[in-house]
Amino acid sequence: MSITTQPQSTPLHASAALAEAERLMIVCNACRYCEGLCAVFPALEMRRTFADNDLNYLANLCHGCGACYYDCQFAPPHEFNVNVPKVLAQVRNNSFRTFAWPRAFAPLFDRNGLWLCIIGAISVAAFIVGFAASRDASVFFAVHTGPGAFYVLMPHTTMVLLFAAVFAYALFAIVMSARNFWRSTGKLESRNGPSALWQGTRDAGELRYLEGGGIGCYNDDERPTDRRRIHHHLVFYGFFLCFAATCVATLYHYLLQRHAPYPWYDLPVLLGTVGGVGMLIGTTGLFFAKLRRDPEMLDDARLGMETAFIVMLFLTSLTGLLLLVLRGTAAMNALLAVHLGVVLALFITLPYSKFVHGIFRWLALIRYAQERRSMLGSSTGELPATSAGQGGSRP
Ligand code: SF4
Ligand code: SF4
Repeated sequence: MSITTQPQSTPLHASAALAEAERLMIVCNACRYCEGLCAVFPALEMRRTFADNDLNYLANLCHGCGACYYDCQFAPPHEFNVNVPKVLAQVRNNSFRTFAWPRAFAPLFDRNGLWLCIIGAISVAAFIVGFAASRDASVFFAVHTGPGAFYVLMPHTTMVLLFAAVFAYALFAIVMSARNFWRSTGKLESRNGPSALWQGTRDAGELRYLEGGGIGCYNDDERPTDRRRIHHHLVFYGFFLCFAATCVATLYHYLLQRHAPYPWYDLPVLLGTVGGVGMLIGTTGLFFAKLRRDPEMLDDARLGMETAFIVMLFLTSLTGLLLLVLRGTAAMNALLAVHLGVVLALFITLPYSKFVHGIFRWLALIRYAQERRSMLGSSTGELPATSAGQGGSRP
């Protein structure tokens, strides 16, 4: 067998990473040793050729658990040089750029580093401070308590209009990117739309394929643990709880005429506190997991984008919790400006940050569930009992 070890960008593929991914998928399709580890291997076995869209789809199915790197008999220093987690991470990170909307903003993925986000947050905070100072600078040094205290700096309507405009843009851009990605995965005649949707959503919600075939995620070395999966869960569900807190507070404001800040036992505060603490722990865990990750599996070129998103989520939860603790003091004014700045910068960068990996992965899992049903005639789309949950080398 003749297999090149130096990937080249060929006319068949848009990048060297895609060309290398095709080479690896062909090797894996012949080997099939890892077919029980995750959804990537059964999905690649349904194909004989690998166009760019197939590779982008497979890359977004990959959860980067590292199991196939540590299990692989052809991993470096073997001459076949098979490193699936690293190459699929490169293809996956490039795919966010490929499907970005509008395309002209795709280069933002390259520049979406931590400093850009922090400068954005500081700029928004400075705008809010300037806005308040232009009306009455003394509000900054006073203590404000009771319903409506948050709106002394900036009226509620102005705040809502500012955030709603940014949120609406971010949502639209994310939906358009998701649509581009979904279309690229091709058309399937599937009569199992709702059940495939349910299974893909369940697999995404459980992070099923971050289990490394059932024994944990390989991150630092060959000893698998569940830490990365748990930290992902804390961030994922923490984010939704914080979002739910904002939705409940909006309903309170408009339906019940109850204005923030609310007492600690009220629903928006409870949801926000639990979600914020979850995000704080989860992002800290993911940040250190990224630092400790085996460099052989890292996509170095996109490390800045990945780290920036984790740090922005950390700062969002940290400033939100500090605001909760110190809202009865004069520090509340500065903290509110900083918190709003961080949240707005997070929203602005959302469509061009690591955030989209969750959306693409969810869509890839739905497509995979459809494929299982359509191509294997399975009623459930579950992995076969003989291979689910265990790699070939596992005891
Ligand atoms: S051992 Fe796994 S990763 Fe290595 S070539 Fe075989 S299927 Fe691919
Ligand atoms: S999810 Fe894990 S086992 Fe599957 S391809 Fe990615 S790194 Fe390999």
